[in-house]
Amino acid sequence: MCYLFRHTSKPNSKGYFHSIPASKNQFNNLTFQHHYSTNSPCSSAKIVPLRCAIVRLMETQEGSASKPVIDFHDINEELVQKMVYDALVWSSLHGLLVGDKSVERSGKVPGVGMVHAPFALVPVKFPENHFKLACEVAPIFNELIDRVSLDGKFLQESLSRTKKVDVFTSRLLDIHSKMLEMNKIEEIRLGLHRSDYMLDEQTKLLLQIELNTISSSFPGLSCLVSELHRNLLKHYGEWLGLDSKRIPSNNTVNRFAEALAKAWTEYNNPRAVVMVVVQPEEHNMYDQHWLCAALKEKHNVTAIRKTLAEIDEEGELLPDGTLLVGGQEIAVVYFRSGYAPTDYPSEAEWRARLLMEQSLAIKCPSISYHLAGTKKIQQELAKPNVLERFLEDKEDITKLLKCFAGLWSLDDTDIVKRAIERPELFVMKPQREGGGNNIYGDDVKENLLRLQREGTEEDAAYILMQRIFPTVSPTFLVLNGISHKDHAVSELGVYGAYLRNKDKVIINDQCGHLMRTKVSSSNEGGVVAGFAVLDSIYLMEQL
Ligand code: ADP
Ligand code: MG
Repeated sequence: MCYLFRHTSKPNSKGYFHSIPASKNQFNNLTFQHHYSTNSPCSSAKIVPLRCAIVRLMETQEGSASKPVIDFHDINEELVQKMVYDALVWSSLHGLLVGDKSVERSGKVPGVGMVHAPFALVPVKFPENHFKLACEVAPIFNELIDRVSLDGKFLQESLSRTKKVDVFTSRLLDIHSKMLEMNKIEEIRLGLHRSDYMLDEQTKLLLQIELNTISSSFPGLSCLVSELHRNLLKHYGEWLGLDSKRIPSNNTVNRFAEALAKAWTEYNNPRAVVMVVVQPEEHNMYDQHWLCAALKEKHNVTAIRKTLAEIDEEGELLPDGTLLVGGQEIAVVYFRSGYAPTDYPSEAEWRARLLMEQSLAIKCPSISYHLAGTKKIQQELAKPNVLERFLEDKEDITKLLKCFAGLWSLDDTDIVKRAIERPELFVMKPQREGGGNNIYGDDVKENLLRLQREGTEEDAAYILMQRIFPTVSPTFLVLNGISHKDHAVSELGVYGAYLRNKDKVIINDQCGHLMRTKVSSSNEGGVVAGFAVLDSIYLMEQL
């Protein structure tokens, strides 16, 4: 679901960071130096405002020399290094942290092997009107997912061809079928989603990349990056020509904690706990712990952490449907694992998933919510007149349609032909989450031709999507204490929470945002191992 933190050799951890590709070393001339005085940004007469930077033309992603950007060569390095120093101290003091892969016990034992989360040194400029639109549609998407989740037939039918060729999707659908057979009704439904967008430079349209309904990452750390940037701009804003007040408030961690707490209240057993389903090794654990800490401190709700294998071992379903794990009653199951095939190395993990699904515990997400967030369903919802099946309000439908990029099934022969001719304008996506699975450029053409040659049903494992080309901007990416300057593109994520008990909608809201910035030369994961960082928004006038 997020390109950002996926390790190139260990697939599908939503909490992993790319290592810096060797080819990027040419940009490493801003290596962190700690001997500068940080008393005041004015302490050196050499520091000049960045707004003096020269504007020049650079090559865009498509190779056309048309866009003015700030020239790196004019940026005062001393100022950058002071900011990096302050930002690193701030991150350490305020828990903007992730596990350090180079330390053996990191990712398993909290407090062992920690590094700052990778971040952009300054927030990315983003037009206010597009930001508002993304926030405005969040509750509509929440409602849409809820309605789609209730239409078992739609989910099964839309995914029926995919089921034949994709074992993972097939296993999820099997659990879903079992629930339909049992006539299992989820009366209390909790969704903690994140809808991701890129702003297409040419059309100036904010287009949805995907909607994450399982394990939406960074509700904890995203708020901290906004705070970090606000703090940096308070000190250095004058020299950068940036005003800290233009960073919008961001409170996902508390909003998500509130949603989990309210779901727990609806379950209505003060002795029950929230269970976070985690991967056995989780380098993004501090993001999760932030949420659990807010849950405990603000709502006095206890959260426990269990892997799917542990749930299989310790889990028990009482005749009335109560889920016990290690003897504790579970009110809410919050998944931060279970979205990728690698999360299910044996039958034990699938047994655990089924056990939880059969239980009375509130699942975030339920199997229906999980399936409603798949890429195939995203593509089906973008077909003409499909939204109308789930939503009544015409204005809402128009708003959502505006955010939809071109999405196609591979049985659309005209589109496949066009994608073979112009593969650079498309992204080919399998039914996978966690980053690094998509196909770009010439590989799109090769794969489409291969599928045509083979004539199997494997084409049902993929969808085609219009490639979005966001604006490329110069940025400073800070990773492992080192600042790198590069050209980058950004992706906005808007969090949404939805809680419902039977007919009563208790929460339906947008809950904050996440900005992720990656070097523009990298697609995501895949062959060219790129890297990305957490970022925040600097609101600017409408486009
Ligand atoms: P995942 O579930 O693996 O996160 P995504 O659909 O979010 O899958 O794709 C991963 C990344 O690939 C995105 O974060 C984005 O950087 C890039 N990407 C996906 N779709 C497009 C697109 N249509 N145009 C440009 N980049 C895309
Ligand atoms: Mg994603």
